[in-house]
Amino acid sequence: KRRPLVMGNWKMNGRLARNEALLTELKAGLASGFDAIDVAVCPPAPYLGQASKLVAGSAITYGAQNLSTEQDGAYTGEVSSGMLTDLGVKWVLVGHSERRSLYGETDETVAKKTQVALEAGLIPVVCIGETLEERKTGDTEVVLARQLDAVLPVLGSQPASAFVLAYEPVWAIGTGLTATPEQAQEVHRFLRDRLASSGYAQAQEARILYGGSVKAANAGELFAQPDVDGGLVGGASLVANEFIGIAKGAV
Ligand code: 13P
Repeated sequence: KRRPLVMGNWKMNGRLARNEALLTELKAGLASGFDAIDVAVCPPAPYLGQASKLVAGSAITYGAQNLSTEQDGAYTGEVSSGMLTDLGVKWVLVGHSERRSLYGETDETVAKKTQVALEAGLIPVVCIGETLEERKTGDTEVVLARQLDAVLPVLGSQPASAFVLAYEPVWAIGTGLTATPEQAQEVHRFLRDRLASSGYAQAQEARILYGGSVKAANAGELFAQPDVDGGLVGGASLVANEFIGIAKGAV
């Protein structure tokens, strides 16, 4: 059976003192009873070194929210995969809808970043999801198929342990509008079936996270769906008790 993963995406939030308080509470709250799941946090890049020190000795791992398509060189403001591995980073979000909509990342950029992450031994958490408009016009599966197919040439040669998919319906992100467990399951099933029908042999082992207004109060029923393997959590991951409650929903 697939091992659940609960991952916090802090987005552009945090300060040294606040991060220390949050990670210290998470470390204490997640110290026992969570052996059956993976828990990770994705702080902003400047705080990855701080996170590394604060989660040391715990089972909490950490990831970055983005990476460059390039390695070293004249790329002002960018952070490379080599810098992330230098800091002990395990995961990296790729193609989050905010990167796609606010920073112009295309399916091609996302595929390239996924490849760069894999080459560095980072585990890409590839984010896909439809907008409200696309759902309303009945295009959910068309959009998801396009986004998934863009990364399949890169993921297809990898073991399922090397990557994670995250379904984040854009209309559910930061809106308080969570997909129902049935809506999430329907899409997760669609994605797993598409992985399988593309010829990917380990579709049953691939982890697919749900993201979009996950809270302690709805995590359990979402994670109980057969094809939902955990969550990618935004706002609620900044509140220790909420995030711990969400992790409990995956145990
Ligand atoms: P919220 O949990 O704040 O809706 O954000 C979801 C998300 O975008 C996680 O990557």
